[in-house]
Amino acid sequence: MALMGKTDGFDTDVAVIGAGPVGTLLAILLGRRGHKVTLVERWTTHYALPRAVTYDHEIARIFASLGIDSETDPAISFHDELYFWKNKDRKDLQIVDWQSQSASGWRVRYWFNQPMMEKRLLAIAAGISNITLMRGWQGIGLEQDATGVTLSLQRNPEEVGPNGEGRTLRARFVAGTDGANSFVREALGIENEDKGYFFDWLILDMIPHFDYVASRNGEPAQWQLCDPKRPTTIVPGGPGPIPGGPARRRWEFMVLPGESAHDLQRPERAWELLAPWGLSPANAELERSAVYRFQARWAKQWNKGRCLIGGDAAHLMPPFAGEGMCAGVRDAVAMAWRLNGILEGKLGLNVLDSYTSERIEHAKHYINFSQELGQIICIADDAVAADRDARMMADLAARNGTPVPTDICRLGVGAWCEDSAHAGELSVQGIVEAGGKRDRFDQVVGQGWVLIGHGADAASALTEVQRQQLAQLDGMAVRLGDSADEVRDVEGTIGHWLDRIDAKYVLIRPDFYVALTAKTPAMLQSRFARVMDALDLTRAPSMAAE
Ligand SMILES: Cc1cc2nc3c(=O)[nH]c(=O)nc-3n(C[C@H](O)[C@H](O)[C@H](O)COP(=O)(O)OP(=O)(O)OC[C@H]3O[C@@H](n4cnc5c(N)ncnc54)[C@H](O)[C@@H]3O)c2cc1C
Repeated sequence: MALMGKTDGFDTDVAVIGAGPVGTLLAILLGRRGHKVTLVERWTTHYALPRAVTYDHEIARIFASLGIDSETDPAISFHDELYFWKNKDRKDLQIVDWQSQSASGWRVRYWFNQPMMEKRLLAIAAGISNITLMRGWQGIGLEQDATGVTLSLQRNPEEVGPNGEGRTLRARFVAGTDGANSFVREALGIENEDKGYFFDWLILDMIPHFDYVASRNGEPAQWQLCDPKRPTTIVPGGPGPIPGGPARRRWEFMVLPGESAHDLQRPERAWELLAPWGLSPANAELERSAVYRFQARWAKQWNKGRCLIGGDAAHLMPPFAGEGMCAGVRDAVAMAWRLNGILEGKLGLNVLDSYTSERIEHAKHYINFSQELGQIICIADDAVAADRDARMMADLAARNGTPVPTDICRLGVGAWCEDSAHAGELSVQGIVEAGGKRDRFDQVVGQGWVLIGHGADAASALTEVQRQQLAQLDGMAVRLGDSADEVRDVEGTIGHWLDRIDAKYVLIRPDFYVALTAKTPAMLQSRFARVMDALDLTRAPSMAAE
């Protein structure tokens, strides 16, 4: 990462505040398009303790676009099995299908170690010369005007004392990915909507010196023990520190009413809680013991003028669905394609409004879902737990024990056609073949605005103006079919999906979401026009003149 000189009165195109997973990913997605990015991080050293341990198929798809293959990467693991919720007698209450391939072409779930993944992302960022990482600096003030944002930065007083150096930084845009106590959110005067939900849980990150799952006689690898005496989460923690060695594991124990969180996180208490699980200092290392307060809240607005917020700065949720960082990763991608488009003179500033309207609803879905899961497990009362068990076991029996699929979630209103089947949802992905390459669609065709015609020439179905608009977006039109000059849908995955929703055309966005589907050229043209309007494309010439 290089230091940059000032151009046109700007030190940088985008100042990203906070180099957690969300900010670092955003910096990469902007930097690899050639934009100048300054990534400002409060601490000089990397945060070395685990937090997130699992991500979903959509994140695997996003990581794949960076060259990180979740199937083969030694820093990532998976368990080919279901996710169980059991009562105190170890009877099934709920079974979730974390075993299948997802519609987006990856496994439903992967397990990883957050510090390892963050280092991976930081290494990718370090290879992009137009990203500058300012470690040991923190944002303390911002002022925005019509053309940019002036940031006040200061050396982190916790590292250098109160009289540390200060400086300003002039940026065209600012992204606040500065975590739960976001300074950017505060400086923009954006309030949180708080669901008033909180529970304290003890998180124990363990490195067993042996293969823990194999030692447990058929106990699931990933499960929740809904025992009112001590609600407990037992899940993988990603690969261990020694390549090929035993994997990490995580235990989460609910802090019971009347218990002291402080007392519980002492190592002696941690080992007491772990003893029934067969772990002791003789056969395992306690990597981290900390009590976290799980909360459910979101910021009411995620963009204001030339500033945006994303990741924990914009939302917090209990980790029961493993979706907190996932939501932040989606934010980074959603911010990146919009900012790239604006910086390249293709999109108008108004497109940023759809960042808030789309992402806030999507994140709220997962906040509510995580809270619902929490309401199932965070029960410390025997009678209430017995009622819950009876209800859930009856539901499961009525379904003959069929696992529930993972849910499909739609974006809020934004740059997609609401009246078109599957729009606003993640696109389906399958294995394709083209130009002598056989792989997932994203890896063969690429990422961006992709218009697919199923057995039809999608480009000729657009008007001339629309073809120019697609070109302006660096978009591509692809014909899916069986002949040599087409993209061959090897397993028929994409074709079956389009047949099922009675569509011949689909427009996929750079974040892999469906902007529209259509059956006829006339339908395609009218829906395409609406998406282009939502992108604020027509204002691009005046933006470029700014
Ligand atoms: C116990 C636990 C378990 C979890 N499990 C999962 C899981 O399994 N799956 C999942 O998807 N999510 C999970 N999460 C959530 C996930 O860890 C977070 O959502 C994710 O780390 C948020 O990333 P971020 O980049 O938004 O923020 P952070 O990781 O908090 O990064 C923010 C960065 O900004 C820096 N910063 C702050 N203020 C300033 C400033 N003023 N100037 C400069 N820099 C600043 C900070 O130093 C930090 O480096 C879990 C969280 C916890 C606590």
